[in-house]
Amino acid sequence: MMGKFNCSCGEVLSTVGCPNPYEGYLLSDYNLDDDIIDDVSSIKIMDIARDVRECDKCGRVWFEEPRGSNKWVSYIPENGKYNGLLKGKE
Ligand SMILES: [Zn+2]
Repeated sequence: MMGKFNCSCGEVLSTVGCPNPYEGYLLSDYNLDDDIIDDVSSIKIMDIARDVRECDKCGRVWFEEPRGSNKWVSYIPENGKYNGLLKGKE
């Protein structure tokens, strides 16, 4: 965990809080073998999940690529707004 994440729009996201509304994880279907589904262990999931960040100012969604590299690729939402994808929903 780094503490801060700099979005290319200039926003600085705090990644300190836990749970954190800007951080999440993406699982590829390729990694969801029967092993993982049968044994829902958070450590195992963290081994195969990709870190995701969402900027609450511009709505960019950032994916770590390659996984574990601390390098990131971003996607800008077509609706042009922050969608709160990683906020906990009731
Ligand atoms: Zn941003």
